Amino acid sequence: PAVIVAIDGPSGTGKSSTSRAVAEQMGLSYLDTGAQYRAMTWWMVHNGVDVSDPAAVAAVVDKPEIVSGTDPSAPTITVDGVDVSGPIRTPEVTAKVSAVSAVPEVRARITGLQRALAAAAAQGIVVEGRDIGTTVLPDADLKVFLTASPEARAARRSGELKGADVHTTREALIKRDAADSTRKASPLAKAGDAVEVDTTELTLLQVIECVVTLVEE
Ligand code: C5P
Repeated sequence: PAVIVAIDGPSGTGKSSTSRAVAEQMGLSYLDTGAQYRAMTWWMVHNGVDVSDPAAVAAVVDKPEIVSGTDPSAPTITVDGVDVSGPIRTPEVTAKVSAVSAVPEVRARITGLQRALAAAAAQGIVVEGRDIGTTVLPDADLKVFLTASPEARAARRSGELKGADVHTTREALIKRDAADSTRKASPLAKAGDAVEVDTTELTLLQVIECVVTLVEE
């Protein structure tokens, strides 16, 4: 039977790298749900939608066609057939994604895409995000909640952003996590039955090994 793994947590905890590696090692599909919210945000910005106006965002939520490729060795994301894997990582999209993903109509549409992809995964899937264990896939076989100290998370993000200032990165990351955790519609939260893994003192390989062991149990 297909195995469903939900991995949630704030940014900079190693969620994406861990989820991808676990999926690859275990022959499962992989879905980065943050990339879907980023793709929706990119489309809004690209089309001049005022993302600070929830009604304006809600009015066009069905327009972009967002397609995720779930092969963990080469994940893809397209909007209306265009590869947006680069443009969705810009500071502008990163700064605006929390506002867009707080709109209930956005969450409803993207949650639908996520459930369809999970149902279509023959062997099973690793889905990473903020509300996967609590809202999207509450019946997942395994739920993991990754955490790390704010310092460790900012340091990892700055490393990824190649030379970005750690202090600025830390402030932006704390702001985004606060917005994601306090919004009304399915906020970032640990499911009651999730296993919490603090990654502060662990290497990426140790986190991967830990999650693989949990899946196998
Ligand atoms: O994981 P990543 O940093 O790419 O996520 C970008 C943003 O997408 C998050 O800050 C959050 O606002 C939103 N998101 C969400 N629910 C998810 C995944 C991401 O609201 N399941």
